[in-house]
Amino acid sequence: MDTITIPQSMLPEDARFGSGPSKIRPAQVEALDRAARTLLGTSHRQAPVKDLVESIRTGIARFFSLPDGYEVVLGNGGASAFWDVMCASLITRQAACGVYGSFSKKVAASVASAPFLEDPIVFESEPGTYCVPERAEYVDTYCWAQNETSTGVQAPVYRIDGSREQGALIAIDATSAAGAIPVDISQTDVYYFSPQKAFGSEGGLWIAILSPAAIQRAEGIKRSCALEGARRWIPPFLSLTSAIDNSLKNQTLNTPSISTLVLLGEQVKWLNENGGMAWSAARCKRSSDIVYAWAERSAYARPFVTDVDARSQSVVTIDLDDSVPQAYVTAALRDNGIVDVNGYRKLGRNQLRIGVFPSVEPSDVEALLACIDYVVEHM
Ligand SMILES: *Cc1c(COP(=O)(O)O)cnc(C)c1O
Repeated sequence: MDTITIPQSMLPEDARFGSGPSKIRPAQVEALDRAARTLLGTSHRQAPVKDLVESIRTGIARFFSLPDGYEVVLGNGGASAFWDVMCASLITRQAACGVYGSFSKKVAASVASAPFLEDPIVFESEPGTYCVPERAEYVDTYCWAQNETSTGVQAPVYRIDGSREQGALIAIDATSAAGAIPVDISQTDVYYFSPQKAFGSEGGLWIAILSPAAIQRAEGIKRSCALEGARRWIPPFLSLTSAIDNSLKNQTLNTPSISTLVLLGEQVKWLNENGGMAWSAARCKRSSDIVYAWAERSAYARPFVTDVDARSQSVVTIDLDDSVPQAYVTAALRDNGIVDVNGYRKLGRNQLRIGVFPSVEPSDVEALLACIDYVVEHM
């Protein structure tokens, strides 16, 4: 196949549009450079790294305007590990799960695999839509994703009617939403994410914002598992109470990637200095609006998500006509250094997926779209 050469002047300044890992800004890499002799390769139990963790925790608390009593907790293993933390340490008996794509489905699968929990009650809808669980008797934890990264759908986050009366927790997978889509944390008990999406860091870490009720729940489950004859096991690595104890000391249970923390710390500072959640959410909205408007105008592309309110402002999915194969387009873009705009493989659609997290410049989004048009015109 002939390669298409996009004119240099059309190319985005930074051509990383992945939905996670996502673009890491040069200033973050400079921070890594500064940390090279002072933080990297030094103990995470000593002040310099602990101070960095503290600045991350207070910076995240500020970014999300945390209500009294909420804590920022972190641990190793990413959001996928946190699903198992929830199974081991947070769900008492039964969860209800909203399932509308690959990531939300994996949460339900984790819950279903825990032998000491009832099967979850699953509220499912078609890819491209969302489905928030409804109140159900005996449920103690409601789980759904604020942004389903596999389909580019964003869902509202709120306390389900009657859930507080039944003492149930609201647990939100915010991995590709946190930092890009606004949220009122008081509507959640557990708001968790990994830092390689809107926070432009690297993978391997999970961060969870916990309400007093969630902290109490974890302590209660730990106590009940310690009772004689208890059949439920909390693997030490999945213990939320240990993660809380360590986080309050600005540490993690085991050794973290210090470079990930440095990149994250720099991003949290940058987001707060620029205007916090309102600023970053507006920036992502602007970038995503640019893509949706382009697709609406396009002769060969259209937004995958038909409900305008459900269209994600961090991960934009665009369907292409069959005459424009995404594999061809993404290969041509990659030949020109523009990467990671392919759709989610398992969704199996002729689709582009564009990460428009706060680190991405809206002007680069415009350049990307011009490059896509160029490739299609020269196909
Ligand atoms: C990326 C992603 C995950 C997985 O994150 P890991 O850090 O790779 O475990 C989970 N949920 C959502 C919504 C995601 O976008």
